[in-house]
Amino acid sequence: MTTPKKFASQADLEEKQVSFTRLSDHAYAYTAEGDPNTGIIIGDDAVLVADTQATPAMAADVIRRIREVTDKPIKYVVLTHYHAVRVLGASAYQPQQILASQDTYDLIVERGEADKASEIGRFPRLFRNVETVPAGMTWPTITFQGKMTLWLGKLEVQLLQLGRGHTKGDTVVWLPQDRVLLSGDLVEFDATPYAGDAYFKDWPQTLTHLAALKPLSLVPGRGPALVGEAQVAQGLESTRAFVSDLYASVQAGAAAGKDLKAVYRDTYAALKPAYGQWVIFDHCMPFDVTRAYDEATQHADPRIWTAERDRQMWAALEN
Ligand SMILES: [Zn+2]
Repeated sequence: MTTPKKFASQADLEEKQVSFTRLSDHAYAYTAEGDPNTGIIIGDDAVLVADTQATPAMAADVIRRIREVTDKPIKYVVLTHYHAVRVLGASAYQPQQILASQDTYDLIVERGEADKASEIGRFPRLFRNVETVPAGMTWPTITFQGKMTLWLGKLEVQLLQLGRGHTKGDTVVWLPQDRVLLSGDLVEFDATPYAGDAYFKDWPQTLTHLAALKPLSLVPGRGPALVGEAQVAQGLESTRAFVSDLYASVQAGAAAGKDLKAVYRDTYAALKPAYGQWVIFDHCMPFDVTRAYDEATQHADPRIWTAERDRQMWAALEN
């Protein structure tokens, strides 16, 4: 690290190739080489979209793909969690309802505005045509705690909170009939898990709950759709390994009385060989280690990231 790294992903300008993959009679995955994914469920009478893309302009491309396979109305948007890059495209779908866990709603109230400014600053490419984002927040119109079932005609769709991990409000979308799981950012594949708002101690157990559903296919938050039990297991296990390895390294450093910067250097070096090839590794590591250090020391809950705190942290760890 001789020259300072450009902040977060501001140097990442390369457009990605989109794939629209059919996973079952009712499920499709909109993926883009490690950029944020969108899951699509097509029921008897309606379409459900899980995670919206970062702007209405970008969501328009998801809608274009949906219209190639169905003309049913897009009635439901599910927010797997509160992050801006997942929710700010919602208005493009003109859904009847926007669904989220009550915990996600609470996080939008508490830190939605700060997160919006922070995320746009971190990764400008992911907010293409950001001027199409309406002012204010994307507000859920229906919230739930624990479990909610939607019936798209005869198709059962479960929204489940199986524990904390990537955030406090994490929700997965589960199709029992097809055994398709949309995991949000609880699972990534060939992409570095962002853990700046995470609960490291809970995340592995939550992954065990996801595995217990025995999915046949899984749409991760980033990376290609995972098809077949072997690929699903690989996605769950590689995410678990990253989260566990990172937290173990940070915990050991904190227990030895090292400061955050020293722990960051040690942990970056420890994880780079196994995970350094995953997209956004350099972007995520400072945020992930900072949150892990907080959790291992004195902050049970993630502190709010603001555009200003982002910059201060980056300057402290990367210079
Ligand atoms: Zn996220």
